[in-house]
Amino acid sequence: MINAPRGTQDILSAQSKLWSLIEKTAEKVFAQAGFNEIRTPIFEDTNLFLRAVGEASDIVNKEMYTFLDKSERSLTLRPEGTAGVVRAFIENHLEHTGKPIKLWYRGPMFRYERPQTGRYRQFHQIGLEAIGSASPHIDLEVINSGMQLLDSLKLTNLTLYINSLGNKNSRTNYINALQQFLFAIKDKVCDDCKRRMEVNPLRCLDCKVEHDQNLYKQAPKIHEFYDEESKNIFEIIKSGLEKLSIKYHVDENLVRGLDYYDHCVFEIKCDSDVLGAQSTVLGGGRYDKLIEDLGGNPNPAVGFALGLERLALLIGENQLAEEKKTFIISDDSSEALLLAKKLRNELDLNVEFDYENSKFKKQLEKALKRNFDQVIFFLESERQAGTFGLKKLKSNQEFKELDFKRLCELLLE
Ligand code: ATP
Ligand code: MG
Repeated sequence: MINAPRGTQDILSAQSKLWSLIEKTAEKVFAQAGFNEIRTPIFEDTNLFLRAVGEASDIVNKEMYTFLDKSERSLTLRPEGTAGVVRAFIENHLEHTGKPIKLWYRGPMFRYERPQTGRYRQFHQIGLEAIGSASPHIDLEVINSGMQLLDSLKLTNLTLYINSLGNKNSRTNYINALQQFLFAIKDKVCDDCKRRMEVNPLRCLDCKVEHDQNLYKQAPKIHEFYDEESKNIFEIIKSGLEKLSIKYHVDENLVRGLDYYDHCVFEIKCDSDVLGAQSTVLGGGRYDKLIEDLGGNPNPAVGFALGLERLALLIGENQLAEEKKTFIISDDSSEALLLAKKLRNELDLNVEFDYENSKFKKQLEKALKRNFDQVIFFLESERQAGTFGLKKLKSNQEFKELDFKRLCELLLE
Protein backbone atom coordinates (compact mmCIF):
# COMPACT_ATOMS: atom_id res chain seq x y z
CA MET A 1 0.00 0.00 0.00
CA ILE A 2 1.46 3.35 -1.03
CA ASN A 3 0.48 6.33 1.12
CA ALA A 4 0.33 10.02 0.26
CA PRO A 5 3.76 11.65 0.69
CA ARG A 6 4.51 13.09 4.15
CA GLY A 7 3.14 16.60 4.53
CA THR A 8 0.47 16.23 1.83
CA GLN A 9 -3.20 15.50 2.27
CA ASP A 10 -6.28 14.48 0.35
CA ILE A 11 -9.06 17.02 0.47
CA LEU A 12 -12.21 14.92 0.75
CA SER A 13 -15.77 15.97 0.06
CA ALA A 14 -16.81 18.08 3.07
CA GLN A 15 -13.41 19.82 3.14
CA SER A 16 -13.56 20.27 -0.58
CA LYS A 17 -16.90 22.06 -0.27
CA LEU A 18 -15.39 24.34 2.31
CA TRP A 19 -12.44 25.10 0.03
CA SER A 20 -14.84 25.90 -2.77
CA LEU A 21 -16.74 28.27 -0.51
CA ILE A 22 -13.48 30.05 0.36
CA GLU A 23 -12.42 30.25 -3.27
CA LYS A 24 -15.81 31.47 -4.47
CA THR A 25 -15.83 34.14 -1.79
CA ALA A 26 -12.33 35.22 -2.82
CA GLU A 27 -13.39 35.37 -6.48
CA LYS A 28 -16.24 37.69 -5.59
CA VAL A 29 -14.45 39.93 -3.10
CA PHE A 30 -11.38 40.36 -5.29
CA ALA A 31 -13.39 40.97 -8.46
CA GLN A 32 -15.32 43.70 -6.66
CA ALA A 33 -12.01 45.48 -6.01
CA GLY A 34 -10.90 45.05 -9.64
CA PHE A 35 -8.39 42.19 -9.23
CA ASN A 36 -8.15 39.68 -12.10
CA GLU A 37 -7.07 36.10 -11.67
CA ILE A 38 -3.71 34.93 -13.01
CA ARG A 39 -2.53 31.30 -13.21
CA THR A 40 1.19 30.72 -13.43
CA PRO A 41 3.17 27.44 -13.66
CA ILE A 42 3.59 25.27 -10.59
CA PHE A 43 7.28 24.87 -11.32
CA GLU A 44 9.68 27.59 -12.40
CA ASP A 45 13.35 28.02 -13.14
CA THR A 46 15.14 27.63 -9.78
CA ASN A 47 16.97 30.94 -10.31
CA LEU A 48 13.68 32.80 -10.11
CA PHE A 49 13.27 31.84 -6.46
CA LEU A 50 16.95 32.27 -5.64
CA ARG A 51 16.64 35.85 -6.81
CA ALA A 52 13.11 36.67 -5.67
CA VAL A 53 12.82 34.93 -2.34
CA GLY A 54 16.48 35.50 -1.49
CA GLU A 55 19.39 33.16 -0.93
CA ALA A 56 19.43 34.07 2.75
CA SER A 57 15.84 32.99 3.37
CA ASP A 58 14.77 29.77 5.08
CA ILE A 59 12.72 28.91 2.03
CA VAL A 60 15.70 28.89 -0.30
CA ASN A 61 18.07 27.39 2.24
CA LYS A 62 16.02 24.53 3.54
CA GLU A 63 12.57 24.28 2.07
CA MET A 64 12.65 24.13 -1.73
CA TYR A 65 11.68 21.12 -3.80
CA THR A 66 14.35 21.46 -6.48
CA PHE A 67 15.08 18.89 -9.18
CA LEU A 68 16.81 18.49 -12.51
CA ASP A 69 14.57 17.58 -15.42
CA LYS A 70 15.62 15.23 -18.20
CA SER A 71 17.48 18.07 -19.93
CA GLU A 72 19.35 18.91 -16.73
CA ARG A 73 17.45 22.15 -16.15
CA SER A 74 17.17 23.06 -12.51
CA LEU A 75 13.48 23.52 -11.71
CA THR A 76 11.72 24.19 -8.42
CA LEU A 77 8.15 23.56 -7.31
CA ARG A 78 6.97 27.03 -6.38
CA PRO A 79 7.28 27.72 -2.64
CA GLU A 80 5.23 30.93 -2.91
CA GLY A 81 3.25 32.83 -5.52
CA THR A 82 4.72 36.31 -5.84
CA ALA A 83 7.88 35.36 -7.77
CA GLY A 84 5.89 33.64 -10.52
CA VAL A 85 3.38 36.48 -10.79
CA VAL A 86 6.16 39.04 -11.08
CA ARG A 87 7.95 36.93 -13.69
CA ALA A 88 4.70 36.69 -15.66
CA PHE A 89 4.15 40.45 -15.29
CA ILE A 90 7.58 41.17 -16.80
CA GLU A 91 7.55 38.43 -19.44
CA ASN A 92 4.08 39.33 -20.75
CA HIS A 93 4.73 43.10 -20.65
CA LEU A 94 1.67 43.57 -18.51
CA GLU A 95 2.72 47.05 -17.47
CA HIS A 96 1.60 48.33 -20.86
CA THR A 97 -1.99 47.34 -20.10
CA GLY A 98 -2.42 50.20 -17.60
CA LYS A 99 -1.02 50.49 -14.11
CA PRO A 100 -1.61 49.46 -11.41
CA ILE A 101 -1.97 45.86 -12.52
CA LYS A 102 -4.13 44.12 -9.95
CA LEU A 103 -3.90 40.33 -9.91
CA TRP A 104 -4.88 37.46 -7.67
CA TYR A 105 -3.93 33.80 -7.70
CA ARG A 106 -4.71 30.54 -5.97
CA GLY A 107 -3.04 27.16 -5.98
CA PRO A 108 -0.63 24.73 -4.40
CA MET A 109 2.75 25.76 -3.01
CA PHE A 110 5.53 23.44 -1.84
CA ARG A 111 7.93 23.77 1.07
CA TYR A 112 9.97 21.07 2.74
CA GLU A 113 8.91 21.88 6.32
CA ARG A 114 8.22 19.80 9.41
CA PRO A 115 4.56 18.83 9.00
CA GLN A 116 2.19 19.68 11.88
CA THR A 117 -1.28 21.19 12.25
CA GLY A 118 -1.54 24.05 9.78
CA ARG A 119 1.91 23.34 8.30
CA TYR A 120 2.28 21.02 5.32
CA ARG A 121 4.70 20.32 2.50
CA GLN A 122 2.08 20.86 -0.16
CA PHE A 123 -0.24 23.65 0.95
CA HIS A 124 -2.46 26.11 -0.86
CA GLN A 125 -2.46 29.84 -1.00
CA ILE A 126 -4.74 32.55 -2.24
CA GLY A 127 -2.88 35.78 -2.88
CA LEU A 128 -3.19 39.28 -4.29
CA GLU A 129 -0.60 41.46 -5.99
CA ALA A 130 -0.97 45.10 -7.04
CA ILE A 131 1.92 46.14 -9.26
CA GLY A 132 2.93 49.57 -10.51
CA SER A 133 1.94 52.01 -7.78
CA ALA A 134 3.82 53.27 -4.74
CA SER A 135 0.74 54.89 -3.24
CA PRO A 136 0.03 53.77 0.32
CA HIS A 137 -3.64 53.87 -0.65
CA ILE A 138 -3.11 50.73 -2.65
CA ASP A 139 -1.56 49.06 0.42
CA LEU A 140 -4.81 50.00 2.14
CA GLU A 141 -6.86 48.56 -0.73
CA VAL A 142 -4.88 45.31 -0.50
CA ILE A 143 -5.21 45.01 3.29
CA ASN A 144 -8.89 45.88 3.05
CA SER A 145 -9.45 43.15 0.43
CA GLY A 146 -7.88 40.58 2.74
CA MET A 147 -10.00 41.73 5.68
CA GLN A 148 -13.09 41.78 3.49
CA LEU A 149 -12.50 38.16 2.47
CA LEU A 150 -12.09 37.05 6.08
CA ASP A 151 -15.14 39.07 7.16
CA SER A 152 -17.25 37.59 4.34
CA LEU A 153 -16.27 34.14 5.63
CA LYS A 154 -17.54 35.29 9.05
CA LEU A 155 -14.23 34.81 10.79
CA THR A 156 -13.79 36.41 14.17
CA ASN A 157 -10.88 36.34 16.69
CA LEU A 158 -8.61 37.86 14.06
CA THR A 159 -6.04 40.55 14.68
CA LEU A 160 -4.18 42.61 12.11
CA TYR A 161 -0.55 43.32 12.93
CA ILE A 162 1.36 45.88 10.92
CA ASN A 163 4.86 47.25 10.83
CA SER A 164 6.91 49.38 8.51
CA LEU A 165 10.37 48.35 7.42
CA GLY A 166 10.86 51.90 6.11
CA ASN A 167 12.62 52.79 2.90
CA LYS A 168 16.07 51.52 1.94
CA ASN A 169 17.82 54.40 3.70
CA SER A 170 16.05 53.93 7.04
CA ARG A 171 16.37 50.19 6.83
CA THR A 172 20.12 50.24 6.19
CA ASN A 173 20.69 52.36 9.29
CA TYR A 174 18.46 50.11 11.33
CA ILE A 175 20.08 46.93 10.10
CA ASN A 176 23.50 48.21 11.17
CA ALA A 177 22.26 48.90 14.68
CA LEU A 178 20.41 45.60 14.84
CA GLN A 179 23.43 43.67 13.67
CA GLN A 180 25.58 45.17 16.44
CA PHE A 181 22.96 44.18 18.99
CA LEU A 182 22.81 40.64 17.56
CA PHE A 183 26.55 40.11 17.42
CA ALA A 184 26.70 40.91 21.14
CA ILE A 185 24.31 38.03 21.96
CA LYS A 186 25.52 35.62 19.27
CA ASP A 187 26.41 32.82 21.72
CA LYS A 188 22.93 32.78 23.21
CA VAL A 189 20.77 32.31 20.08
CA CYS A 190 19.88 29.35 17.85
CA ASP A 191 22.10 28.20 14.98
CA ASP A 192 19.69 29.53 12.36
CA CYS A 193 19.90 32.98 13.90
CA LYS A 194 23.71 32.80 14.01
CA ARG A 195 23.56 32.42 10.23
CA ARG A 196 20.76 34.94 9.76
CA MET A 197 22.58 37.69 11.65
CA GLU A 198 25.41 37.50 9.13
CA VAL A 199 23.38 37.36 5.94
CA ASN A 200 20.06 39.00 6.79
CA PRO A 201 19.82 40.22 10.38
CA LEU A 202 16.19 41.38 10.05
CA ARG A 203 15.11 37.78 9.73
CA CYS A 204 16.32 37.01 13.26
CA LEU A 205 13.27 38.94 14.48
CA ASP A 206 11.10 36.39 12.67
CA CYS A 207 12.68 33.44 14.56
CA LYS A 208 10.17 30.90 15.89
CA VAL A 209 12.31 29.91 18.93
CA GLU A 210 10.77 31.38 22.08
CA HIS A 211 14.07 31.77 23.92
CA ASP A 212 15.42 33.86 21.04
CA GLN A 213 12.22 35.86 20.78
CA ASN A 214 12.60 36.86 24.44
CA LEU A 215 16.12 38.10 23.83
CA TYR A 216 15.01 40.11 20.81
CA LYS A 217 12.56 42.10 22.91
CA GLN A 218 15.58 44.20 23.87
CA ALA A 219 16.59 44.78 20.23
CA PRO A 220 16.71 48.34 18.85
CA LYS A 221 13.35 49.39 17.43
CA ILE A 222 12.92 50.23 13.77
CA HIS A 223 10.75 53.33 14.29
CA GLU A 224 13.74 55.12 15.81
CA PHE A 225 15.38 54.92 12.38
CA TYR A 226 12.56 56.08 10.07
CA ASP A 227 13.33 59.10 7.89
CA GLU A 228 10.61 61.60 6.93
CA GLU A 229 9.38 59.64 3.90
CA SER A 230 9.16 56.38 5.83
CA LYS A 231 7.33 58.09 8.69
CA ASN A 232 4.81 59.81 6.40
CA ILE A 233 3.95 56.68 4.46
CA PHE A 234 3.38 54.68 7.63
CA GLU A 235 1.19 57.46 9.05
CA ILE A 236 -1.04 57.39 5.93
CA ILE A 237 -1.46 53.64 6.32
CA LYS A 238 -2.32 53.87 10.00
CA SER A 239 -4.81 56.70 9.59
CA GLY A 240 -6.30 54.96 6.54
CA LEU A 241 -6.92 51.82 8.59
CA GLU A 242 -8.55 53.90 11.30
CA LYS A 243 -10.82 55.52 8.73
CA LEU A 244 -11.83 52.07 7.49
CA SER A 245 -12.47 50.99 11.12
CA ILE A 246 -9.93 48.19 10.70
CA LYS A 247 -8.32 47.58 14.08
CA TYR A 248 -4.58 46.97 14.08
CA HIS A 249 -1.58 46.58 16.34
CA VAL A 250 1.88 47.78 15.45
CA ASP A 251 4.37 44.95 16.01
CA GLU A 252 7.89 46.23 15.61
CA ASN A 253 9.33 42.74 15.38
CA LEU A 254 7.16 41.88 12.40
CA VAL A 255 9.54 41.50 9.44
CA ARG A 256 7.95 38.59 7.52
CA GLY A 257 9.64 35.48 6.24
CA LEU A 258 10.71 36.63 2.79
CA ASP A 259 13.54 38.96 1.93
CA TYR A 260 11.93 41.36 -0.47
CA TYR A 261 9.81 43.68 1.66
CA ASP A 262 9.96 47.41 2.29
CA HIS A 263 7.64 49.93 3.98
CA CYS A 264 4.41 48.39 5.21
CA VAL A 265 4.28 44.69 6.12
CA PHE A 266 1.31 43.02 7.76
CA GLU A 267 -0.01 39.74 9.12
CA ILE A 268 -3.40 38.59 10.26
CA LYS A 269 -3.33 36.15 13.15
CA CYS A 270 -6.04 34.17 14.82
CA ASP A 271 -6.09 33.37 18.52
CA SER A 272 -8.15 30.15 18.18
CA ASP A 273 -6.34 26.96 19.30
CA VAL A 274 -7.27 24.93 16.22
CA LEU A 275 -4.18 26.25 14.46
CA GLY A 276 -1.72 25.16 17.15
CA ALA A 277 1.46 27.21 16.86
CA GLN A 278 0.54 28.28 13.31
CA SER A 279 -1.53 31.35 14.14
CA THR A 280 -0.75 33.41 11.04
CA VAL A 281 -3.45 33.11 8.42
CA LEU A 282 -2.40 35.86 6.05
CA GLY A 283 0.82 37.76 5.48
CA GLY A 284 2.00 40.37 3.05
CA GLY A 285 3.61 43.69 2.42
CA ARG A 286 5.16 46.08 -0.03
CA TYR A 287 8.02 44.99 -2.27
CA ASP A 288 9.21 47.95 -4.28
CA LYS A 289 12.50 46.59 -5.61
CA LEU A 290 11.60 43.03 -6.52
CA ILE A 291 10.51 43.72 -10.08
CA GLU A 292 13.79 45.48 -10.92
CA ASP A 293 15.70 42.70 -9.20
CA LEU A 294 14.02 40.24 -11.54
CA GLY A 295 14.94 42.24 -14.63
CA GLY A 296 11.80 44.35 -15.15
CA ASN A 297 11.37 48.12 -15.21
CA PRO A 298 11.10 49.70 -11.77
CA ASN A 299 7.59 49.06 -10.51
CA PRO A 300 6.64 49.29 -6.87
CA ALA A 301 4.20 46.63 -5.70
CA VAL A 302 2.28 45.28 -2.73
CA GLY A 303 0.54 41.99 -2.03
CA PHE A 304 -0.39 39.26 0.41
CA ALA A 305 -0.88 35.50 0.56
CA LEU A 306 -3.11 33.51 2.83
CA GLY A 307 -3.07 29.82 3.68
CA LEU A 308 -6.17 27.93 2.60
CA GLU A 309 -5.59 24.99 4.97
CA ARG A 310 -5.34 27.33 7.96
CA LEU A 311 -8.44 29.22 6.88
CA ALA A 312 -10.38 25.97 6.43
CA LEU A 313 -9.33 24.82 9.91
CA LEU A 314 -10.64 28.07 11.36
CA ILE A 315 -13.95 28.07 9.56
CA GLY A 316 -14.77 24.40 10.16
CA GLU A 317 -17.25 22.39 8.20
CA ASN A 318 -20.22 23.33 10.39
CA GLN A 319 -20.42 26.71 8.67
CA LEU A 320 -21.37 25.10 5.39
CA ALA A 321 -24.93 25.76 4.36
CA GLU A 322 -26.79 22.47 3.92
CA GLU A 323 -27.51 21.73 0.31
CA LYS A 324 -30.95 20.30 -0.41
CA LYS A 325 -30.61 16.83 -1.93
CA THR A 326 -33.29 14.99 -3.89
CA PHE A 327 -33.35 11.28 -4.76
CA ILE A 328 -35.50 9.70 -7.48
CA ILE A 329 -36.79 6.20 -6.77
CA SER A 330 -37.57 4.51 -10.04
CA ASP A 331 -37.61 1.08 -11.63
CA ASP A 332 -36.03 2.42 -14.80
CA SER A 333 -32.63 4.12 -14.48
CA SER A 334 -32.78 5.73 -17.91
CA GLU A 335 -36.18 7.34 -17.18
CA ALA A 336 -34.80 8.47 -13.82
CA LEU A 337 -31.81 10.11 -15.51
CA LEU A 338 -34.12 11.92 -17.89
CA LEU A 339 -36.18 13.31 -15.00
CA ALA A 340 -33.03 14.17 -13.02
CA LYS A 341 -31.66 16.11 -16.01
CA LYS A 342 -34.89 18.06 -16.34
CA LEU A 343 -35.03 18.94 -12.63
CA ARG A 344 -31.36 19.89 -12.48
CA ASN A 345 -31.77 22.19 -15.45
CA GLU A 346 -35.11 23.74 -14.60
CA LEU A 347 -34.88 23.98 -10.82
CA ASP A 348 -31.11 24.09 -10.34
CA LEU A 349 -31.49 21.23 -7.86
CA ASN A 350 -29.09 18.54 -6.67
CA VAL A 351 -30.77 15.33 -7.93
CA GLU A 352 -29.52 11.73 -7.79
CA PHE A 353 -31.00 8.32 -8.53
CA ASP A 354 -30.15 4.62 -8.46
CA TYR A 355 -28.06 3.25 -11.34
CA GLU A 356 -28.68 -0.44 -10.63
CA ASN A 357 -32.46 -0.72 -10.95
CA SER A 358 -32.42 -1.97 -7.32
CA LYS A 359 -35.52 -3.01 -5.42
CA PHE A 360 -37.77 -0.21 -4.17
CA LYS A 361 -36.93 -0.87 -0.51
CA LYS A 362 -33.21 -0.84 -1.13
CA GLN A 363 -33.41 2.49 -2.94
CA LEU A 364 -35.39 4.03 -0.09
CA GLU A 365 -32.85 2.74 2.44
CA LYS A 366 -30.05 4.25 0.39
CA ALA A 367 -31.80 7.64 0.27
CA LEU A 368 -32.30 7.59 4.04
CA LYS A 369 -28.77 6.44 4.80
CA ARG A 370 -27.19 9.08 2.60
CA ASN A 371 -29.23 11.82 4.18
CA PHE A 372 -31.34 12.92 1.24
CA ASP A 373 -33.96 15.54 2.04
CA GLN A 374 -36.66 14.32 -0.29
CA VAL A 375 -37.46 11.39 -2.58
CA ILE A 376 -39.52 11.41 -5.75
CA PHE A 377 -41.45 8.22 -6.56
CA PHE A 378 -41.25 7.67 -10.30
CA LEU A 379 -42.22 4.05 -10.83
CA GLU A 380 -44.04 2.39 -13.70
CA SER A 381 -47.48 3.18 -12.18
CA GLU A 382 -46.67 6.90 -11.83
CA ARG A 383 -45.18 7.09 -15.29
CA GLN A 384 -48.28 5.58 -16.86
CA ALA A 385 -50.52 8.02 -15.02
CA GLY A 386 -48.16 10.91 -15.81
CA THR A 387 -47.90 11.81 -12.12
CA PHE A 388 -45.29 11.84 -9.36
CA GLY A 389 -45.09 10.88 -5.70
CA LEU A 390 -42.98 12.85 -3.22
CA LYS A 391 -41.82 12.26 0.33
CA LYS A 392 -40.04 14.85 2.45
CA LEU A 393 -37.80 12.63 4.54
CA LYS A 394 -37.04 15.16 7.29
CA SER A 395 -40.70 15.96 8.07
CA ASN A 396 -42.20 12.66 6.89
CA GLN A 397 -44.82 14.45 4.73
CA GLU A 398 -45.98 12.43 1.75
CA PHE A 399 -47.68 13.64 -1.45
CA LYS A 400 -49.30 11.53 -4.18
CA GLU A 401 -50.49 12.00 -7.75
CA LEU A 402 -48.73 15.32 -8.26
CA ASP A 403 -48.56 16.89 -11.68
CA PHE A 404 -45.13 18.16 -12.78
CA LYS A 405 -45.84 21.79 -11.90
CA ARG A 406 -46.96 20.96 -8.37
CA LEU A 407 -44.00 18.59 -7.95
CA CYS A 408 -41.63 21.44 -8.82
CA GLU A 409 -43.28 23.79 -6.34
CA LEU A 410 -43.04 21.24 -3.55
CA LEU A 411 -39.43 20.31 -4.38
CA LEU A 412 -38.37 23.90 -3.90
CA GLU A 413 -40.25 24.38 -0.61
P1 ATP B 1 4.97 30.88 8.87
O1 ATP B 1 5.54 31.98 9.69
O2 ATP B 1 3.74 30.28 9.47
O3 ATP B 1 5.98 29.86 8.44
P2 ATP B 1 5.42 32.27 6.43
O4 ATP B 1 5.83 33.62 6.86
O5 ATP B 1 6.44 31.28 6.01
O6 ATP B 1 4.48 31.60 7.57
P3 ATP B 1 4.21 33.19 4.01
O7 ATP B 1 5.30 32.77 3.15
O8 ATP B 1 4.00 34.61 4.28
O9 ATP B 1 4.27 32.37 5.36
O10 ATP B 1 2.84 32.57 3.46
C1 ATP B 1 1.59 33.18 3.72
C2 ATP B 1 0.64 32.23 4.38
O11 ATP B 1 0.70 30.94 3.79
C3 ATP B 1 0.94 31.96 5.85
O12 ATP B 1 0.44 32.97 6.66
C4 ATP B 1 0.21 30.65 6.05
O13 ATP B 1 -1.18 30.88 6.25
C5 ATP B 1 0.43 29.94 4.76
N1 ATP B 1 1.55 29.00 4.86
C6 ATP B 1 2.87 29.25 4.76
N2 ATP B 1 3.60 28.12 4.87
C7 ATP B 1 2.69 27.11 5.05
C8 ATP B 1 2.80 25.69 5.21
N3 ATP B 1 3.96 25.07 5.19
N4 ATP B 1 1.65 24.98 5.36
C9 ATP B 1 0.45 25.59 5.37
N5 ATP B 1 0.28 26.91 5.22
C10 ATP B 1 1.39 27.67 5.06
MG1 MG C 1 7.38 29.72 6.94
